[in-house]
Amino acid sequence: MRNSRKNTCGYLPISSKPFFIPQTPVEQLMMATEAVFKSWNGKRAVDYRNAAGIPHDLGTAVNIVTMVFGNMGNDSATGVAMTRNTGEPGLEGDYLVNAQGEDVVAGIRMTKGIDQLAVEMPEIYKQLQKIAQILEDHYRDMQDMEFTIEKGKLWMLQTRDGKRTAQAAVRIAVDMVEEGKISIEEAVERVSPEQVDFFLHPQFENKAVAEARASGKVLAGGLNVSPGAAVGKVVFDADLAETWAKQGRQVVLVRPETKPDDVHGMLAANGIITSRGGRTSHAALVARQFGKPAVVGVAELQIDLVKRSMRVGDLTIHEGDFLSLDGSTGEIFIGKLKTVDPDIKDPWLIKLLGWADRIRTLDVMANADYPVDAIRARDYGAQGIGLCRTEHMFFESERLPHVQNMIMATRKLERKEALDALLPFQREDFAGLFRAMDGLPVIIRLIDPPLHEFMPDLLRLTNELADLKLQINHAVNMAEIDNLLQQIRTKERIRARVEQLHEQNPMLGLRGVRLSIQIPELTGMQIRALFEAACEVTREGVKVLPKIMIPLTTHANELKRQREVLEKTAGKVMAEQGITIDYKVGTMIEVPRAAMTADRIAVYAEFFSFGTNDLTQTTFGISRDDAESGFLMSYLNQGLLPENPFTTLDRDGVGEVMRIAVAKGRKTRPGIECGICGEHGGDPESIALCHELGLDYVSCSPFRVPVARLAAAHAALRHRSKKKDEK
Ligand code: PEP
Ligand code: MG
Repeated sequence: MRNSRKNTCGYLPISSKPFFIPQTPVEQLMMATEAVFKSWNGKRAVDYRNAAGIPHDLGTAVNIVTMVFGNMGNDSATGVAMTRNTGEPGLEGDYLVNAQGEDVVAGIRMTKGIDQLAVEMPEIYKQLQKIAQILEDHYRDMQDMEFTIEKGKLWMLQTRDGKRTAQAAVRIAVDMVEEGKISIEEAVERVSPEQVDFFLHPQFENKAVAEARASGKVLAGGLNVSPGAAVGKVVFDADLAETWAKQGRQVVLVRPETKPDDVHGMLAANGIITSRGGRTSHAALVARQFGKPAVVGVAELQIDLVKRSMRVGDLTIHEGDFLSLDGSTGEIFIGKLKTVDPDIKDPWLIKLLGWADRIRTLDVMANADYPVDAIRARDYGAQGIGLCRTEHMFFESERLPHVQNMIMATRKLERKEALDALLPFQREDFAGLFRAMDGLPVIIRLIDPPLHEFMPDLLRLTNELADLKLQINHAVNMAEIDNLLQQIRTKERIRARVEQLHEQNPMLGLRGVRLSIQIPELTGMQIRALFEAACEVTREGVKVLPKIMIPLTTHANELKRQREVLEKTAGKVMAEQGITIDYKVGTMIEVPRAAMTADRIAVYAEFFSFGTNDLTQTTFGISRDDAESGFLMSYLNQGLLPENPFTTLDRDGVGEVMRIAVAKGRKTRPGIECGICGEHGGDPESIALCHELGLDYVSCSPFRVPVARLAAAHAALRHRSKKKDEK
């Protein structure tokens, strides 16, 4: 192996200012070497390491070797090749005849596909194939190689593990197990949870694509270098892409070509388009690595970075206009195309996730409120429903009036009428969930949010009232006045109730179990609906495993009281129906007091589920509703907190509170089932902590279930190797 065109962290920086060229080779080498070491701390390198999770203290190295030349005539060439073609065994790559290395990756000249080398230089091609096999067998991973042919002689310049798309990563890992090159554990470890997430990225709706094609909405086409569908506003530089994305806008970064300086913008963008470059260009490699849909080498695009627009033929697209790009087909469409949730039926992924399931010890459940979500969750491998937020069903248009009537009721009978109207809806909701999860546990949480969330907004009501009063002045007859007065009386009654319900701090107010204690009829209706549904589906032959969860418990007495009410109603319904349902009662742990008194709470709870959205809020004392817009972002920017605690569990604080709760709970009730159902349940780092804490399950959105399955396997493997190291 001879020279490498590249050092390990990129090309030597070339300044636009005139600079002194050192005159001796030794001086040149010294300066070049220094430049490489300095580049480790350059902004683009730091951005890249941050995004890829590479530690900053690894450092870099410099190899000094003599050169071979690919530009010594038509029997010379230079190229880049991978040992597997988008995952499939077989060479893939590009090369250029009579050219020097940089030309291939820079995308300045049109490269030839590596298959052409078999025709132009068959002997060299055979040698390259052989060497590729030797290298791949040795490193036990797909290799990304650089080579130069100097006057008919092949020189290998460099080899390294190849970057790959998510699909390729999964396929290569599985194939290598089947080829006997790596173990199942290694295969599972080699795929990151983010790569699994990629399989869940949206694709364009077929109909939308067909319509766009038929109506001439295809702007241009290029190389389909990184799959997936992306929609966003066109932006022509990486800084602006980052700024707009931070403001919540969806962007597509369009550049003539990308450089390492653009990485932050590429990461912020939904998708990337370049007018130059090939499959091994910077844009293609980075996009694939980070799972960003990308189309490169779109030669028809004439980008004018000064005017901040681009032209394709007569059509001009300005910065801020919407484009849609399909990284799987290489097409770019004008405007916004509708996307659909993809199906994860990839046979290699299914196999890999099956192996992950054998390794992990954490169960993976899903947070789902409707049968359609439950079915998806089950398809994605969920082992049950870890959280059904029953109140979500209350917001639907046909139910909300009954919920509002229940809240407005001043007399018991009125309230009962409203709840009786709601009961059939809830019963059907629960029956649907039970049917979808036949044979798997379903954790149903009783109503949680403060009641004002179901009522009209106070400000809106006040404005509507003012408007109605104005209308009286313009009324033309008594009937109209009567009608307006009637409306005013109704709205005033509602406003009075909304004002009555107003709390300065509703998240710490009348919600969760407190609400159930204040309005026992409401939980009574929910329990009745749940048990009637359970009996109904049992009669149909469905195996139902309901678990009832009480939210926001702070004191053991709350749970004791609720349990009594619950058991009484459940017993009554089961007696009426002549069916016995096996059920469990548990609680969410969402406030530190509950965690600190978990031993007492466990007397009345058969399971704990950590509601880490609230537990983070109450442990930090930071409002979860304001977290993303308030000072927390500034804290993160200043490095005061290493991570957003609402995204990744705070190990030292919230994690410790959880640890105490698990230990105390298990002291009272050995083996009490403990899980998590906050948003953290789908975050790989948090899943690792849950594994360490000895939880039994994580519950997350259906779309995160496959990610959580793999992350849980990683956590188990990490834990195993840590234990081995300790021995
Ligand atoms: C939680 O607090 O983590 C939780 C799951 O409940 P919710 O988000 O509905 O408050
Ligand atoms: Mg909560």
